[in-house]
Amino acid sequence: MSTVDSRSRIVNAMSIDVEDYFHVSVFDGIVPRSEWAAMESRVVANTTKLLDLFDEFAVKSTFFVLGWVAERHPDLVQSIADRGHEVASHGYAHRLIYDQTPEAFREDVRRAKQLLEDSSGRRVRGYRAPSYSITPRSLWALDILLEEGYEYDSSIFPIRHDRYGIPVSDRRPYPITRKAGTLLEVPGSTARLGPLNLPVAGGGYFRILPYAWTKWGIDRVNRIESRPVVFYLHPWEIDPDQPRLAAGLLGRFRHYRNLNATEERLRRLLTDFRFAPMSELVTQARATSFEHNDLAPSLPYSW
Ligand SMILES: [Zn+2]
Repeated sequence: MSTVDSRSRIVNAMSIDVEDYFHVSVFDGIVPRSEWAAMESRVVANTTKLLDLFDEFAVKSTFFVLGWVAERHPDLVQSIADRGHEVASHGYAHRLIYDQTPEAFREDVRRAKQLLEDSSGRRVRGYRAPSYSITPRSLWALDILLEEGYEYDSSIFPIRHDRYGIPVSDRRPYPITRKAGTLLEVPGSTARLGPLNLPVAGGGYFRILPYAWTKWGIDRVNRIESRPVVFYLHPWEIDPDQPRLAAGLLGRFRHYRNLNATEERLRRLLTDFRFAPMSELVTQARATSFEHNDLAPSLPYSW
């Protein structure tokens, strides 16, 4: 007996930012980097749980792995690659880009890329900044990514947020051409409602708001705009048993809310929509982005 597949034919991008629960920017002032190595690590178990889940649904994803994690767990990176997923870079030390000098940032992304390529045996093409921290203050980072051999970036969120975002930047993937070459920017996904860009595809928005929000948003982008979304999640978001750290009220709400419901939600998401690694969306976008780029300025700032 065959069942009718009512999913949109659009294939979205799945992405996981591989970091441990104590790497998250909200805990920057609470767990200093010097204490990271002494913390209980849960990233291997949580990422393996995601790998098993993706196998169950026959989904391939991109894993933006933190270099600090790759250095301690090269077998995990190898296993991500061996199981058919794309390995990409989340930088080395999870420092917000606008808090770094260009020299320190270059060192960070170079070190991460080398570690990830050594442990996966594959070339790393993509980068995502800690907390989407490419903003009007840190656009210089795009030059450095190009010079260090990255081909695409997924760090500019076209929304308003206290830590990140360029609200007027393009919602679709777009090329950024500089002296060192052309980088494809693949922004975090938003649904457009009137004048607003609403973040609808991942992280806290997926975990904290009802599942219907994400389903509505992805459906809207897939069906009305006929375009894929870029979904993102962290391994710690499916780990309700992680140690509780003493962040402020807002930080605790953002980090701990609905941890016990997220795995089940992810199962619904993988049932309701199709997904592939970022690299597939990048290949598609390269073919069409120049045409899109004529319609709207991709970045509103000179830099
Ligand atoms: Zn991160």
